[in-house]
Amino acid sequence: MTPSFYIGRYPVWRIQEWEGQFAAPEDLFAEYDAAAFEDKAEDFTPAYYREGFIYAFLQSWLIDVGGLRILLDTGAGNDKDRPGIPVFGNLSTDFLAKLANTGFGVDDIDVVVNTHLHIDHVGWNTALNNTRWEPTFPKARYIFPRIDRQVWDPSGSQYQHMLGKDVNAQVFEDSVQPVLDAGLAELADDGYEITAGITLRDAPGHTPGHMLLEVRDGEDLAFFTGDILHHPMQVFRPDWNSVYCEDRETAARTRTMILKRAAREKARVVPAHFGGTHSVFVEERDGGFYPLGLS
Ligand SMILES: [Zn+2]
Repeated sequence: MTPSFYIGRYPVWRIQEWEGQFAAPEDLFAEYDAAAFEDKAEDFTPAYYREGFIYAFLQSWLIDVGGLRILLDTGAGNDKDRPGIPVFGNLSTDFLAKLANTGFGVDDIDVVVNTHLHIDHVGWNTALNNTRWEPTFPKARYIFPRIDRQVWDPSGSQYQHMLGKDVNAQVFEDSVQPVLDAGLAELADDGYEITAGITLRDAPGHTPGHMLLEVRDGEDLAFFTGDILHHPMQVFRPDWNSVYCEDRETAARTRTMILKRAAREKARVVPAHFGGTHSVFVEERDGGFYPLGLS
């Protein structure tokens, strides 16, 4: 399978798990304004908007950094009971076969990174072996944001206060805890360097511990932004949050800061759920941000 793009010398593959009509925009965006969305709706159709619904993807990114294979975010996974978002429950996709199409199998993944510990970013961390959830990538070290590992742990004191605790029900138990139990987890703080030029940065708001992965080779730079942005509408309106953002004010501040950096440093922005070309560059002018190469 041909790489989707390169960052300097490093090939990057997109591995798709799911695509479909996810939610009506008024149900996804907390600050939804009909006139503002309608103004862009034609440009979003069909890559990002179809028949009144946001069109979204679950996709992972595989980055080969000179032989070190990094898998970023792991979708919803198969066979998982998901009362919080039934559309992502009990899936039976060929995700691992698609991964194998890149030439790399589960034993070839050296590092798994979860930008945050939400239902649709940790699923393939584990797979069912008879009745047990076991790490899907037995030779990998799994990197979790330290703060998310604390706040999403149902036995911790913060979990009861999480806005998303019902949406994220059972996720920690079947997709995070088994990795901790296997001794494969490492906890990341701001500035955690996986290897030279590959760095995790705090990007809080969507979840308290949300991180982005910065990948740099020479002049080439990409930000794998997880759920800092769900949809290109938020490039035009960085003040728009998803209803899943835990702290809206912080999320909007993070989003604005990252767009500003991406524009200034000419970084490719690679969000978790974008359709179209699945990643964009950004321009800042006239007091606003504009996505380049939407489709
Ligand atoms: Zn997500």
